[in-house]
Amino acid sequence: EAAKRDHRKLSQQLDLLHFDERAPGAVFWHAKGWKIFQLLTGYLRHQQEDAGYIEVNTPDVMDRELWEISGHWQNYKQQMFAVETPDEKTYALKPMSCPGAVCLYGHDLKSYRELPLKMAEFGKVHRYEPSGSLHGLMRVRHFTQDDAHIFCTKDQLLSECVSTIRLIYKIYQHFGFDNISIKVSTRPKNRIGSEQTWDFLEQTLIQSLQDIDIAYEVSEGEGAFYGPKIEFTLKDAIGREWQCGTIQVDLNLPERFDLSYINEDNQKQKPVMLHRAIFGSLERFIGILIEHYAGHLPFWLAPVQVMIITISENQQIYAQQVLKRLQSLSLRVECDFGKDKLGYKIRKHTLQKIPFLLLIGGKELEESSVRVRTSKGTDLGLLQMDELEKFLRQAMVN
Ligand code: ZN
Repeated sequence: EAAKRDHRKLSQQLDLLHFDERAPGAVFWHAKGWKIFQLLTGYLRHQQEDAGYIEVNTPDVMDRELWEISGHWQNYKQQMFAVETPDEKTYALKPMSCPGAVCLYGHDLKSYRELPLKMAEFGKVHRYEPSGSLHGLMRVRHFTQDDAHIFCTKDQLLSECVSTIRLIYKIYQHFGFDNISIKVSTRPKNRIGSEQTWDFLEQTLIQSLQDIDIAYEVSEGEGAFYGPKIEFTLKDAIGREWQCGTIQVDLNLPERFDLSYINEDNQKQKPVMLHRAIFGSLERFIGILIEHYAGHLPFWLAPVQVMIITISENQQIYAQQVLKRLQSLSLRVECDFGKDKLGYKIRKHTLQKIPFLLLIGGKELEESSVRVRTSKGTDLGLLQMDELEKFLRQAMVN
């Protein structure tokens, strides 16, 4: 079953993307794959806007000095792409968006009135993974992270965690991931920050899960040196587990970049910083979705939603009218008016897993209808244009 769903095979069959030795671990997105990427980004953007996030964008290449302040140059250099330039300075491609977000936060003086500040970025990040570990979309060197950064006061931390967990659940459930397991990772041996701070942070993360009745496991000592975290692991349609989402508290970057805000008493305070990812890597999440759905993407996410197929030339003018009508509903529709046999056309587009094929022959022309067939081969019978429109609108919201 897993082999049948292999996203590397399906991506090729569905003409979504390819890899090339000249850019190891980087995706060449074809038009259909990029459409999925855009739809997924658009969906998350919309959800984030509703949840009060702003979207920002920070540079891909930044000075080595910045990576020294963040600590990446000392601790993460082996996995970074350094960039030599004619000005003889060293730069690096960002392996994560966080230092960029911190620079944005620190650009001007912040007041408590601006918090919580939720900054989302679809940041392309670059990590030098060993070539032996690269695996289709699941492990690449260049990928897009949906890492968002929430800057808030200590008092706001609990409610921010609660609303982030709710958002993560809502989004996973939209894709039919109902089985989600949660792990809270606590203070490791080597760490920064006082015991009192760790007590507060760990208790707040756990309290946020308890407040909304979510079961969790605790991984003692598994947290990062700079803060505890919550990890979200999904179970896909055939029971495999994928760790995707995280909520990570960060004591390190606010300290290293000397972040602050002015509180109600005109005093400088340090904000709490949360990193939050939902899909994790957009590329990997698309790989997971392809395998989860075995290539049968939901209607809203299918790069081509409807294929209109005629039996002979006689139906072409009518089929064009159907095409125009569906395009006016902003559906992604294509047509096959070619001379191939009907059986061949059906097989070809079924293999492309296009959600609905609309077949038009003499009878359909006569009755101003279409015959609807699903990507799994089910014949839904004849529908008049008005019924078809209603049916497709319904499919869009499901
Ligand atoms: Zn981050």
